[in-house]
Amino acid sequence: MKRDLESVVSQACRKFDNDGVRIIDILREVQNRLGCINGETMELLAEKLSSSRIEIEGLVSFYSFFSEDPKGKVIIRLCDDIIDRFAGIDQVAKVFSEELGIGIGETSSDRSFSLEYTPCIGMSDQAPAALINGVVVTKLTPGSAGTIARSLKRNPDPSRLVKKKGDGNNAGRLINAMVKNNIRKKGEVLLSDRIPAGAGLESALKKTPDQVIREVIDSGLRGCGGAGFPTGRKWDLARRTTAARRFVICNADEGEPGTFKDRVLLTERADLIFEGMTIAAYAIKSKSGILYLRAEYEYLRPFLENVLKKRRKAGLLGKRILGKRGFDFDIRIQSGAGAYICGEESALISSCEGLRGEPKTRPPFPVEKGLLGHPTIVNNVETFCCAARIIDRGAQWFAAIGTDESNGTKLLSVSGDCKRPGLYEVPFGIKAAKLLDMAGAEDPAIVQIGGAGGEMIGRNSFDRKICFEDLSTGGSVMIFSSHRNVLKIVDYFLEFFIHESCGYCTPCSVGNVFLRERIQKIMDGYAEEADIDYLKDLSKTIMMTSRCGLGNTSPKPVLSSIDQFPVVYASLTRESKQGLQAGFDIQKALAESRRIAKRTSMIYDPVYGSENE
Ligand code: SF4
Repeated sequence: MKRDLESVVSQACRKFDNDGVRIIDILREVQNRLGCINGETMELLAEKLSSSRIEIEGLVSFYSFFSEDPKGKVIIRLCDDIIDRFAGIDQVAKVFSEELGIGIGETSSDRSFSLEYTPCIGMSDQAPAALINGVVVTKLTPGSAGTIARSLKRNPDPSRLVKKKGDGNNAGRLINAMVKNNIRKKGEVLLSDRIPAGAGLESALKKTPDQVIREVIDSGLRGCGGAGFPTGRKWDLARRTTAARRFVICNADEGEPGTFKDRVLLTERADLIFEGMTIAAYAIKSKSGILYLRAEYEYLRPFLENVLKKRRKAGLLGKRILGKRGFDFDIRIQSGAGAYICGEESALISSCEGLRGEPKTRPPFPVEKGLLGHPTIVNNVETFCCAARIIDRGAQWFAAIGTDESNGTKLLSVSGDCKRPGLYEVPFGIKAAKLLDMAGAEDPAIVQIGGAGGEMIGRNSFDRKICFEDLSTGGSVMIFSSHRNVLKIVDYFLEFFIHESCGYCTPCSVGNVFLRERIQKIMDGYAEEADIDYLKDLSKTIMMTSRCGLGNTSPKPVLSSIDQFPVVYASLTRESKQGLQAGFDIQKALAESRRIAKRTSMIYDPVYGSENE
């Protein structure tokens, strides 16, 4: 038995050259083969990789796809985002639970099955959905859940569940999934049927790297993952460093609830993504690229590896790309292991380095000191696609689309209460009302724009525009009808952030718990008006003092729902008789965190004073 274990561990380590930086891949391999990474396995891994058991234990406990306890041979991960909840995932879970004789979070005694909930798996347009050993099953019902469970009991091979294949490349041999692209609106930039293969790269190589960067700057392209940092400027900063090595990383770790646009681009525009990365490599003089693929999209990996293989064969990757002397560049795929925070660029870099996916303190920024200490640009899947199109069609063409501060088109993942959930490529600046109309939303009352950390709007705001200068979004648009409960949605988002917080800083890890407690108090009907003030104050403090984007945005649904649905809050709160929690000083409780983070408070701060002073 011990010999078997040693053999699995040795093979996994050898497969990745005993390289500690590749430990996430090694752990994935071991987890898949053994069903867990227990203490004995950790000791062996530590020995082989000159690491320590404590470090390996830290990784196993951090990533949700790893487990110290033995898992079943078949792991059913039910998508537990708010869209799936409203679509009936709980009823589906109940049937799986009854059929398999195990509860959520449990493994059957014969180790045949594990049943668990998992955050958004990127299938909100075909909810409720689940991953069964990586095989995606969509549009589940209690009836289909029963059929699947019985079928798996007879034959535990989940690939047999794919009876009706999805569209486009989903139906191909290498993906072989029932997933649908659900492309509802094609735009000129990304989903056009007339995108010529390799045109962007050929144009790029006719220019100097500086000219390529100039073109991207002039186009006004901004990061499409949500933050909106100017792409050309990011490339320029990395290029200007004097380092000997630079890296290009594509962030394909879209974990924002309700987002699935990158899934479709990875399925249908893989060449364009790799082309954008190759152009970026030429511009910043990089030889190595990484596509960081979220664990939930592992089913796309064989297809993506094959695209890379074909590009190498065609001279589009590897040595002397398209015959250009001195231009060598290749891309490898790095799989994630289930951690939402790895969508944050510095956390993603940590993960690529074989560490827990925890955000790094900035400065220095990744463009100066990124992967393994070298300048690194991290761009989203959609951003790289846009960059390739810009180099093909020109900066002016791109800049002419959209608004003053948001050039080009935006891919929107639309889900929830509408007739046509799916992917929409629209020019920046589209009004929310127009999008709702296109999606066939008949009774939209609440729209969450930008995922869990985005803004919640009501009917009075449907004439607002989707763009960086108004309603900013990385791509998620969730629609809720009037029979949905606003507070239940806010409560879900806070639950999500509490689960996904890396725990490094107190305002985020503790503050979101306090916010959720107060939201639940309001839902239970015990709240007073002072609770609303408490929510506002604490939200601002969390946003100001947290270390990374997760904490900086997690209270947004709280603040925007208070702003947009005052009647809902008023109807559930009583007039305050006296200040609540008189003995509890939020500012004092958070003062230490602010001191460490060198942040000031929007409101009174006993250490640093107030911004408003
Ligand atoms: Fe971690 Fe939250 Fe702090 Fe970000 S804000 S570093 S996720 S605890």
